[in-house]
Amino acid sequence: MATQQIAPAINAWDVAQRQFDLAAERLNLSRGLRKVLREPKRELTVHFPVKMDDGSVQVFTGYRVQHNLSRGPAKGGIRYHQDVTLDEVKALAMWMTWKCAVVGIPFGGGKGGVIVDPKQLSQRELEGLTRRFATEISIIIGPEKDIPAPDVNTNAQTMAWIMDTYSMHVGYTSPAVVTGKPIALGGSEGRNEATAQGAVYTIVEAARHLGMDLRNCRVAVQGFGNAGSIAALLMAAVGSRIVAVSDTTGAIYKPDGFDPKSVLAWKQEHRSVVGFPGTSTISNSELLELDCDILIPAALENQITAANADRIKAKIVAEAANGPTTPEADEILHRNDKFVIPDILCNAGGVTVSYFEWVQDLDRDFWTIDHVNEKLRAIMTRAFASTLDMSLKEGVHMRTAAYLLAVQRVADATSLRGLYP
Ligand code: NAD
Repeated sequence: MATQQIAPAINAWDVAQRQFDLAAERLNLSRGLRKVLREPKRELTVHFPVKMDDGSVQVFTGYRVQHNLSRGPAKGGIRYHQDVTLDEVKALAMWMTWKCAVVGIPFGGGKGGVIVDPKQLSQRELEGLTRRFATEISIIIGPEKDIPAPDVNTNAQTMAWIMDTYSMHVGYTSPAVVTGKPIALGGSEGRNEATAQGAVYTIVEAARHLGMDLRNCRVAVQGFGNAGSIAALLMAAVGSRIVAVSDTTGAIYKPDGFDPKSVLAWKQEHRSVVGFPGTSTISNSELLELDCDILIPAALENQITAANADRIKAKIVAEAANGPTTPEADEILHRNDKFVIPDILCNAGGVTVSYFEWVQDLDRDFWTIDHVNEKLRAIMTRAFASTLDMSLKEGVHMRTAAYLLAVQRVADATSLRGLYP
């Protein structure tokens, strides 16, 4: 089975800055404010040793970036991936700033990453790497400072190790230092599903706006991890047909649809979606161009580019992933009358329920799943409506509309606080 990797030839930080420039120009922001918002406030690079199972020592490189803290502490995930770069983490941190502002939660943007292929490490090695990385970045994280969460290849167990490490350093249990923890350690009901649940709330709104009946829709999902697999399950639950899903090993396709729950069980057993009975194997790039109604990119950046955007057939592109579409591709999709639900809106359910988790931890008061989802739905539908209004009023596509809302909010907060000293 060939492992498929899409080369990150396009620089995500360049993309993020270009998206910002577009909004800053339209908002007529002052030169000074543009310079401030265009760069991250802090970038921490750490090189740290980990004792491997064979007794050897390996040195890993990791990053934690805080983009803008005007609206509150930094918030953003930690990614483990062999292709992590400082520029990628900077882009992801900047996108977090806009995302928190679009949904109106009181955080700034942060992100972290370690250059590692976690599949090559044992569980003990992963724990050692996580605890040492948490120690290295402990100088800038904390419940009032910067609150990490899961991202690609990290999960609730990773967060439990970070929470424990930080708590050992400060000498007391500090659940609010990370979100996406196990429920037993102060995690929130609904956090694991939140990114996908939030995305589905925005898809429901988009379909309503476009007059599409989700029960007649065919859905393709790129990436079958936390965001993608749960999005597939939730789309099936609203009556859509899941026709294709993929992971790093390849993609599967069946025009009349399949049960994503069975695919999840298959993937758990075979460590790949490929080979699921009754489906044909296609490539990840073929998946993006399938004849379907809704495409959910839920893997990595730069998947829809000038090279393939013209061949995207889906009417709705719902960006569960961060940065899957380049600015050039945005223009092509817009020209072809595609409706893009931009990442900073579409996948904001994850950080929104992370915010709920943080509030619950600080209050020592925990909510039911119904309460979490009701509040999440209210926030996502409100953010969708404001973005759509802006898009219609300004005659711009949904990404620019979301940026106009978000950048203005962050610019206002930054200006109101003034320049220190
Ligand atoms: P994950 O590690 O749980 O899953 C990633 C999935 O993508 C895996 O199935 C992997 O096999 C697949 N994948 C990786 N490279 C691929 C490629 N080139 N082609 C096809 N599939 C590929 O990660 P996740 O947490 O689901 O994150 C996925 C995306 O969603 C990322 O862009 C992440 O930043 C974004 N996101 C995640 C959250 C969250 O709460 N987890 C929140 C907001 C946004």
